[in-house]
Amino acid sequence: MTSRLPSEIASFAAEHKAQYKAMRKAIEEAKTIVVFRHLKPDFDAQGSQMGLYTFLKDNFPEKEIHYVGDNHVSFTPRIFPETEKLNEAWFDSHDFLAIVCDVGDADRIANPHFAKAKTIIKIDHHPCKKEITTPEYTICQLGSASAAELVLNFMASYKGKTISKEAARWIYIGIVGDSGRFMFSSTSIHTFQCAELCLQTGFDLKETYLTMYEKTVDSLRSLSYVLSNFKVSEHGVAYYTLPKEVQEELRITPELGKEHVNTFSNIAGVEIWCSITEDPNPSDYCWRISIRSKGLDISKIANKWGGGGHAQASGARIDHLSDLEYFIKDLDDLIASSKA
Ligand code: AMP
Repeated sequence: MTSRLPSEIASFAAEHKAQYKAMRKAIEEAKTIVVFRHLKPDFDAQGSQMGLYTFLKDNFPEKEIHYVGDNHVSFTPRIFPETEKLNEAWFDSHDFLAIVCDVGDADRIANPHFAKAKTIIKIDHHPCKKEITTPEYTICQLGSASAAELVLNFMASYKGKTISKEAARWIYIGIVGDSGRFMFSSTSIHTFQCAELCLQTGFDLKETYLTMYEKTVDSLRSLSYVLSNFKVSEHGVAYYTLPKEVQEELRITPELGKEHVNTFSNIAGVEIWCSITEDPNPSDYCWRISIRSKGLDISKIANKWGGGGHAQASGARIDHLSDLEYFIKDLDDLIASSKA
């Protein structure tokens, strides 16, 4: 790794100097650290979590460090290792520092015991509806393409610590995932400079991409279903629904069903696209919606429909399929009003 930081990262570091110093002090003082991230993880949630966890393990061998959260239906263990199972008694009997990556809303953190931490650090890029109560230290940069970039900035603020190939590879996965392979409009010079910093460690890029984007024959079958059944609204919302029976027939879960959403990312006349997958979980039955857009801000509509997220990538839900037409109408009206 170079000793001179690329310009964008250096200016970010200068802006957050005091906060980084306080965060490094909190880490220095903690004997035990647990790294958290959001529920139903994506590349960025897991990449930023595992990147930070690996960095801390590499550089603070005397500390007890853990990572927790739900596993992912296709990422675990293919891309990310299984998370650690720490029970409630463990959290009750330890003084620990919680570092929460890629999430701000308290009810989206993939383990409620973060609240028992002595100190909380949050590193995120999401707008928040219900903040974590008093995280002592917060780095939240809404415009950042990924949380992994913000975690890397913090790691790079240490003098004399190493960013290993493994830590850099996790961070790179987060950056590539949330920037849509450097194609989303949130991608900036900063994003590329962070990628450069990671690549300088020399991890195997070809192997990383093969692992991230490997498909299965079953996923081709479900894509074939999506391509045969999607709809497009009057003003350009492309969407597909995957009811429970179809998921069973295709041998997929709701999480796998949403993975085809970006099939519609580059289609002329399509401004917004969504996957709508039935989640039959009896304790939280709903239809889960992933929404993406070419440029319009969909986050307000996601908020209205029980979700949230970023301007061009959000999540929402409907409790009954009969609400779908009203949800799609909201998005369709958004496109129509942008053209008026
Ligand atoms: P998804 O479609 O689930 O991949 O989510 C797209 C983006 O929106 C991710 O950055 C999620 O973290 C965020 N997101 C999804 N659901 C919610 C929610 N209920 N509240 C806030 N952010 C969300």
